[in-house]
Amino acid sequence: VKLSFITLLFCILFLTGTIKSQQLTEIDTNYLNYSNKITKTALADTFGYSLLRKLCSFGGRLAGSDHLVKAEDFMINEICKMGFDSVFTQTFSTVNWKRGEIGKFEVRGTKFDTEQQGSSKSEGGWTLGVDGWEKISEGTPATGNGQPATGFSIAAIGGSIGTNGVLKGEVIEISNLSELDSRKDEIKGKIVFFNFPFEQGVYNSFESYGPAVNYRVNGAWRAAQYGAKAILIRSVASNFDDVPHTGTLRYVDTIPKIPAAALGVQSAVNLSKLLEMQANSKLGIDKLEFQLELDCRTEGFTNVRNIIAEIKGSEKKNEIIVIGGHFDSWDVGEGAHDDGAGCVQSIEVLYLMKKLGIKPKRTVRAVLFANEENGLAGGRGYGSTSIGEGNIHYAAIESDRGGFVPRGFDVDSTPEIIVRMQGWLPYFEKTGIDWIKKGGSGADISQIKDVKGLIGFVPDSQRYFIIHHSANDVFNSVDMRELELGSAAITIMTLMISDFGF
Ligand SMILES: [Zn+2]
Repeated sequence: VKLSFITLLFCILFLTGTIKSQQLTEIDTNYLNYSNKITKTALADTFGYSLLRKLCSFGGRLAGSDHLVKAEDFMINEICKMGFDSVFTQTFSTVNWKRGEIGKFEVRGTKFDTEQQGSSKSEGGWTLGVDGWEKISEGTPATGNGQPATGFSIAAIGGSIGTNGVLKGEVIEISNLSELDSRKDEIKGKIVFFNFPFEQGVYNSFESYGPAVNYRVNGAWRAAQYGAKAILIRSVASNFDDVPHTGTLRYVDTIPKIPAAALGVQSAVNLSKLLEMQANSKLGIDKLEFQLELDCRTEGFTNVRNIIAEIKGSEKKNEIIVIGGHFDSWDVGEGAHDDGAGCVQSIEVLYLMKKLGIKPKRTVRAVLFANEENGLAGGRGYGSTSIGEGNIHYAAIESDRGGFVPRGFDVDSTPEIIVRMQGWLPYFEKTGIDWIKKGGSGADISQIKDVKGLIGFVPDSQRYFIIHHSANDVFNSVDMRELELGSAAITIMTLMISDFGF
């Protein structure tokens, strides 16, 4: 009797649960039609992909560059032609960092001649050539097949000071920050090489990014604490090429600023091997000397612009839904995935609604944020600017994880709202979106206060850290259909929030 009562109770609970979930997924056929049309039109028109091609033709869009100003002018002009309800810009001031000449990092070997009457006179430089160490005479550039044979592939980390000429020194390889602390007495006057690899054994590559990027952001001031004169990091990248990945760093006011650069992954591995061979006396070289040259510098301040376009809501025009990406990018690539993709997808939301005659109930506003990469001036500025008496930010969606195939949405909101949004999943069926769950949104929209839901668009992460902040981030690395499916998914999410509400 007792058992069957429990069974009955279980059945009641189970049935209630089933009924509840059916209620949540009850489909509005009008909106299912809209969803299907949105996806079809995104894939067929390829509006965002075409806009991205033009945007990338300007080159990297770092704050303070001519490329950025030209790309801003181009984008404002393009959007104005599209006939939205309003288009406007916001101007902010931010730091003006310049890479200058591409940096150099080289090694010289020295052999001491012990044959000449036992003296240990230095016999000039030795260089690491294609066939091993080659003698070079004074004044001769180190070459092998016309290339500087001793060169490693590097890029200055954004915000770094320059070396003010050639910086010479010994390199000490350090695996992690606790090793740095335990070997603090060996650091003074050396170039610290943080060789922290990208963890491969996890599905979500952003989980590997976190621990590795700590060395790029905090490596310089941590090493400078112990008297290092420069740092090198292994690029924060998931693949095994030799393209260096830049990004931003942090200096601490009370600790000397030292130059910082990222080595391509292959260069980092080679440097590590070289140091190991030298430590085991396997190079046949008595002394290694490294030379680092970085031309980068900060030249005061520069102006950057947020670019904003909107379609006014048909019923609740004072409730604003922001969709955004960041317009700036690092200078080494074209800012295609990071974050040209997010920008064109945001504009494409408005394009698709207008083209399909969808009049959103709430106001939909695309914001192309300025200067996310090295200052966040656009996001902070937008977040602290008034949006007018009686207006509120209802929700915000950010796309800043590349233009890859859609997977899900991370939502920063209440559990009730997240459950409600999960009921919308059937509308996303043709976009590849599989899940909606609690999670972080994005750097720019997280500056917006008093908003009911902050949403991060999550595409597949497997290839993002091949391109991120590097010369690999070019238009050709973006797949047309993957990018367009992302635009469709974000448009559908915007429509659901606008018309169904939380
Ligand atoms: Zn980005």
